[in-house]
Amino acid sequence: MPAPTIVDYRPRSTLVTPAHLVPKAKFPAIDFHGHPRQLVSADGLASLMASLDSLNVRLMIAAENISGDRLRTTLQLLQGSPHKDRVRLMTGIDLRNVGPGWAEKTIQQLDADIKAGAVGVGEISKGFGLSTTKADGSRLKIDDPDLDPVWEACARLKVPVFIHTADPQQFFEPIDFKNERWLELALFGDRRYQSDRYPRFEELMAERDRLFKKHPATKFVAAHMGWHANDLGRLSRMLDAMPNVSVEVGAVLYDIGRQPRAAHDFFVKYQDRILFGKDSFQPEEYPYYWRVFETADEYFDYYRGYHAFWKLYGIELPDEVLKKLYYRNALKLAPGLPQAGWP
Ligand SMILES: [Zn+2]
Repeated sequence: MPAPTIVDYRPRSTLVTPAHLVPKAKFPAIDFHGHPRQLVSADGLASLMASLDSLNVRLMIAAENISGDRLRTTLQLLQGSPHKDRVRLMTGIDLRNVGPGWAEKTIQQLDADIKAGAVGVGEISKGFGLSTTKADGSRLKIDDPDLDPVWEACARLKVPVFIHTADPQQFFEPIDFKNERWLELALFGDRRYQSDRYPRFEELMAERDRLFKKHPATKFVAAHMGWHANDLGRLSRMLDAMPNVSVEVGAVLYDIGRQPRAAHDFFVKYQDRILFGKDSFQPEEYPYYWRVFETADEYFDYYRGYHAFWKLYGIELPDEVLKKLYYRNALKLAPGLPQAGWP
């Protein structure tokens, strides 16, 4: 009999254990890493609210990197709706063509956008570091000194900077039978970062860490747990060395849920430094997060077969930690969020 292919082989587990599905978060949540597509009309907003209500997400922060007129139009739509305290927007920074005069112009725009109602800066995309170029054509390094005045302005404005750096480290490694993301890389060829065209993972991490250390008064939030959810010891050392840094959990649930004991201890130890965020807006995927964070369920499926070839386990966080993860840490970090009425 021929062996099945890796794509076809999906054995059904015969393990029978208690299952506790969690359709709604136990406490109202703030999605710090939102990419909702519905912020274009009153109808869109209403349908977004129905989805958020069904999940107990009280507030979505759209991390769409928008500024100027687009930001103002969206803010107006929100202001005129009955849902104005359910969505907040971050502003963006255009990191293309950094050169003489760029910082002054960008700070002016930031001042105006924050005054208009933006609550943070982001999502600064992974292109920053991987591919964005300066006016002189060179790669814009994450710790480029030309950007310093802008990060200092974010500290002065008291807004968090939400930054996505690089991608899972496996995307930078050779694709062979030892690569944990081999199937995903085969399915999505453009997710590979070959060494002849892109900086290496560690080079980007080093630039990012130098940026975080250079601006201790600026609050940074590293998206996707800085891509270190697979090495919580490393992430601990990073958080210990950089008190101005928090992390967000979007799209790395597969790493949290495969190490329930270490993850539980990490979330308890760093309970003031971790924010809930989901990234791509698929309402049916949020309950997997609630189940991992809230239950002690064992050996259950993740929502995307190509991210992870393993099952998840619940990390059963105490209520006080859940509240910080779901909303308190975000409220503290972004003073522009609606602060009243949380449990
Ligand atoms: Zn994102």
